[in-house]
Amino acid sequence: MSLTVVGSIAFDAVKTPFGVRERMLGGSAVHFALAASFFDQVHVVGPVGDDFGEEELAIMRARGIDTDDIERVSGKTFFWRGEYGWDLNHRTTLDTQLGVFADFEPKLSDASRGADLVFLANIQPDLQRQVREQCSAARFVAMDSMNLWVETTRDSLIETMSGVDCVMLNDSELRELTEQPNLVRAARQVREWGPTVVVAKQGEYGAAMITEEGFFALPAFPLEDVVDPTGAGDCFAGGFMGYLAAHAEAPLDHDLLRSAMAYGTALASYNVEEFGTERVVRLTSEEITERVASLRRMTEFACRSVALRGDSARQSG
Ligand code: AMP
Repeated sequence: MSLTVVGSIAFDAVKTPFGVRERMLGGSAVHFALAASFFDQVHVVGPVGDDFGEEELAIMRARGIDTDDIERVSGKTFFWRGEYGWDLNHRTTLDTQLGVFADFEPKLSDASRGADLVFLANIQPDLQRQVREQCSAARFVAMDSMNLWVETTRDSLIETMSGVDCVMLNDSELRELTEQPNLVRAARQVREWGPTVVVAKQGEYGAAMITEEGFFALPAFPLEDVVDPTGAGDCFAGGFMGYLAAHAEAPLDHDLLRSAMAYGTALASYNVEEFGTERVVRLTSEEITERVASLRRMTEFACRSVALRGDSARQSG
């Protein structure tokens, strides 16, 4: 089985309290693909400019990612500059240059088109829809977005959402999009637009999932040193979708999605330990397995019964 992703392929400039990088490989599709590549074959769709080097492509190819649908066009690669303060849950975007994405019209190869799962990573919603429409055979389609698109292309974003199975958004973006301060109500609104699964990413507080069958949440893996949160959401999505792709024969139910949340959480936690893609490119399968096991131990609890004091206690007190 395989997985297709469309999203930004970028150069990022990032400043956090722990350091600065002026130009590093980034982009939502890149972070996603690196994380998902631990589980299944990933096809990346998107354009890069003439400033994108072979060494950047090699980083993806080294993880077995199919880069045939990365189109080189004349112009500049997508560029994003962001800065974080001491609250790493909050970042300021200082610059976004769409570059070659401005006029990009995706034409997918048969391999990308035939993928079982599709992830529409953060990019213009029109573009996400064009890819979604070409992947008519997909069993499960998920998407991400961000405040920029909520604020500038809300109608198109909702139209794209109506054609997917799962929406993964930051908690605050979900509230902004639906104009609902309450997460459960916000998720219900999104589900009314079409998707059956809603995942709210909550940064250092973890992620929550709402499906027809109920609610599930996991904390983020507790780390003492978080260096750069950029790409955490995409790595979460990569782990989540990768896990689903690797279980193509299993029913896509709440239980499978819960396990996918654990793998998403593990991948995201490694990503934030270093800048950009630096940690994930060195990651091993053993480390992923180990972190999922720790997360499981951490979130399990035994529920011993207890005799609760009821009405009689209130009367005698
Ligand atoms: P995340 O931290 O998971 O939300 O994603 C970070 C990545 O998103 C960075 O590597 C950026 O290149 C990319 N990015 C930032 N702004 C945008 C945007 N407006 N559209 C698409 N990708 C973006």
